Amino acid sequence: MKKHNFSAGPSILPQEVLQKASEAVLNFNNDNLSLLEISHRSKPFVDVMEHARTLVLELLNLEGKGYKVLFLQGGASTQFLMVALNLLEKRAGYLNTGSWSDKAIKEAKIYDDIYEVASSKNANYNYIPKGYDIPADYDYFHCTSNNTIFGTQIKEFPKCSIPLVCDMSSDIFSRQLDFTKFDLIYAGAQKNMGPAGTTLVVVKEDILGKVSRKIPSIMDYKIQISKSSMFNTPPVFAVYVSMLTLEWLKNLGGIAAIEKENDKKAILMYSEIDLNPLFKGYASKGDRSIMNATFNLVNDDLKETFDTMCRESGINGLNGHRSVGGYRASMYNALPLESVQVLVEIMSELETKA
Ligand SMILES: *Cc1c(COP(=O)(O)O)cnc(C)c1O
Repeated sequence: MKKHNFSAGPSILPQEVLQKASEAVLNFNNDNLSLLEISHRSKPFVDVMEHARTLVLELLNLEGKGYKVLFLQGGASTQFLMVALNLLEKRAGYLNTGSWSDKAIKEAKIYDDIYEVASSKNANYNYIPKGYDIPADYDYFHCTSNNTIFGTQIKEFPKCSIPLVCDMSSDIFSRQLDFTKFDLIYAGAQKNMGPAGTTLVVVKEDILGKVSRKIPSIMDYKIQISKSSMFNTPPVFAVYVSMLTLEWLKNLGGIAAIEKENDKKAILMYSEIDLNPLFKGYASKGDRSIMNATFNLVNDDLKETFDTMCRESGINGLNGHRSVGGYRASMYNALPLESVQVLVEIMSELETKA
């Protein structure tokens, strides 16, 4: 049966990317060797890394603007720590908009007191706080652009005179932004860029080298930059599949083109949530994510029927995170509009049945 994959992460990848990736596992570059059994320092793989970096800067419109691209390991969760290690000297400001922000704060607190500029924790993160101040003498400000678990998304980023650091794990490459506003962007690959195993870091080089502490080599952005992400053996497969996904996106017309598709999917999804009396949305309307739509059944007695209908239509990965319950439709770049159409049809069919 054809599947409609709404999984929150690891998540859907384009079919053509999976096809090319599986071919490279058997026979990379028509050289009768697997991508997985050649040296990461061989020219074919160095070219992959180089091309992936170039595509990132191209898609984000950051070429020639002082940014470096890294493909690291340890997931976005390691960046919670690495950001603080590399940038935190006296004090940093964090916006707490969800479990991932909260975890980023916890790790940074190992190095210093962290100032939470605002938090929506008391409302179980169903909205994005606004109108807070960011102290101008802090080392940096950290925020999470899209809250994967709660389904909220920052629409307008605050004016910020200090380095702006952003965890974009679940909405990188999904919408047009002025990326020059950010000094450090990081994202685990497995939501919108590729398979689990690598983490993208895009950093403006001139914010580095300003802290007095000693930084372990593997955690030091400057060392990683000087070694072109090959301080140690990089996750070759994850980088290669990410490169293929970035190529796929470029061929589609880049972020401008995919944003149109993402908007169509989100509009369709949220209008069903709002019009269908059996469901209610979780996130505050103005802060709704175009990537992860969170919603609940008004009457939980319908859960079994709805879940069965979903299963019978090939819908996968729709369960909400345990901290929110209900449902979460993750509509990442590679999810076709058709999948959202199928889901919405089931929701309205449930309405006629109930
Ligand atoms: C998934 C996710 C993370 C954690 O990523 P890992 O790669 O598993 O460490 C961090 N932040 C956000 C916003 C996420 O969606």
